[in-house]
Amino acid sequence: MAIKILLVEDTATELQFLKEGLESGGFVVEAASNGSEAYKKVYSFAPDVVLSDIVMPGIDGYQLCRMLKNDEETKKIPVILLTVMDKKIDTFWGKKAGAQLFLSKSIDMKELISQVVATVRRYPVKEEYKLALAAKADSASPAQFKLNSILNDLLMKSIFSSEFRNLSDFLNYERILVEKLFSLLSSFVEYHVAGIYFASPDDLAENILYIDTLGRNLSKNLLNDVSYDFFRTLEEHKTIKDTKFEVVKMLLGKEMDFQISDFTSKIVIPLVFDKKLIGGICFYTRHDVNYSSFRYFDIMISELLAIFKMKYQYTEKEFMSVLDGLTGLYNRRQLEIGLEQEHNRTKRHPADFSLAILDIDFFKKVNDTYGHQYGDYVLKTVADLMKQAFRKTDLLYRYGGEEFVMIMPETGIEGAIIPVQRLRNMVEEYDFEYNGVKAKVTVSIGLTMNYQDLLTSADILKSADEALYRAKQGGRNRVVLHEQ
Ligand code: GH3
Ligand code: MG
Ligand code: MG
Repeated sequence: MAIKILLVEDTATELQFLKEGLESGGFVVEAASNGSEAYKKVYSFAPDVVLSDIVMPGIDGYQLCRMLKNDEETKKIPVILLTVMDKKIDTFWGKKAGAQLFLSKSIDMKELISQVVATVRRYPVKEEYKLALAAKADSASPAQFKLNSILNDLLMKSIFSSEFRNLSDFLNYERILVEKLFSLLSSFVEYHVAGIYFASPDDLAENILYIDTLGRNLSKNLLNDVSYDFFRTLEEHKTIKDTKFEVVKMLLGKEMDFQISDFTSKIVIPLVFDKKLIGGICFYTRHDVNYSSFRYFDIMISELLAIFKMKYQYTEKEFMSVLDGLTGLYNRRQLEIGLEQEHNRTKRHPADFSLAILDIDFFKKVNDTYGHQYGDYVLKTVADLMKQAFRKTDLLYRYGGEEFVMIMPETGIEGAIIPVQRLRNMVEEYDFEYNGVKAKVTVSIGLTMNYQDLLTSADILKSADEALYRAKQGGRNRVVLHEQ
């Protein structure tokens, strides 16, 4: 059977010339003088190959090609684009549009014929495929309509991607990153509860599921169940212990009490990179939503993966480092190492050492009232006051978000209480001011030492934590000693 060519060219003389040349080569040629006409004829004529000019008024060659390649119905028809000169940029866009071949318009007829034949051999179109096309000739949407929808789609995808990419500015502000992610996700995903979890390269790090309830006041039980359900689903990828959740948005109004079984739709998405779980995200809703059929689901996942990957790598870098980036104090991992060393040393060479844990009072309120940058400023300032209050030989650590640990070697509890009280007092007296905004801050501190009954370094830390807990219970802004 003769090869059917759909020839697209807006200049009448050129069209005529090419048509005659190809017909004399034994092809059946159908001509179209613009992109929209060609698109229509792809259906009615069902060619073996489309040979198209690029520059045409209205729908041009790239657009025609993109439209054909974008659709299952037409994508298998090979497209050859004719370029004026072999401009690199023509070829680049042509490839992006999915064209199979580029030929210069100045090519001689013999060569053109042999290239067309080669292309058709290389990309043969089955007879049934062509028949199916022809059968749809009357119902195919008009080219302009099709093109608009492709353009809209591309535009939306690109906006979508750039919205996610903008979040990479907040890699070192987990809380802000989470808030921005929720605000973005909530703008196009329907949910009653959404959760975001960043896995950490540090196995000792706490696993937190950040939860957004869109400001609804949902019961703690429900959120507990969601958190349990979420982490249980992720356990296929990683053993996860010591989990907790944190609600990001402020709770408003009366508590709405429903149960996890009331969610009629849910999705838990593990984000895996390089066989490692780097995080996860979940949506739960009481409406009927088929999450995975969501139009931009794939792009959403790939953008989320990109941002989680960056975040993971950022945390990994922090983890490998010794100092905490914000405060310049030793980081949590160094505490594990330092405390273990101090503990072992005093076991071999009996001596006292004291340890204090400090937690900023109502710090969440500082963040909520003045913003996270202000919160960071407070953290930095408290760390600076710590440096002033303690001796050079004391070891100062940022333990977690707004918690700090101080180890005082060669110091019993009577000696330790002096700098610890001094610090508590310095913070209370300090006039915090950032960008012209003033605030007062207090801290609670739990103090302990290497008592005989505290057998491991973890016991020591725990005893200080218990004392801190009592300091909070007792009304905050105070130092409480471990009760032996
Ligand atoms: P309490 O007196 O009981 O300690 O109350 P609190 O609000 O300080 O306690 P909670 O532990 O609930 O809040 C700690 C908050 O610290 C939660 C988190 O938003 C914030 N936080 C943790 N790390 C950072 C950080 O690096 N920067 C900022 N700005 N905030 C942080
Ligand atoms: Mg705390
Ligand atoms: Mg606190």
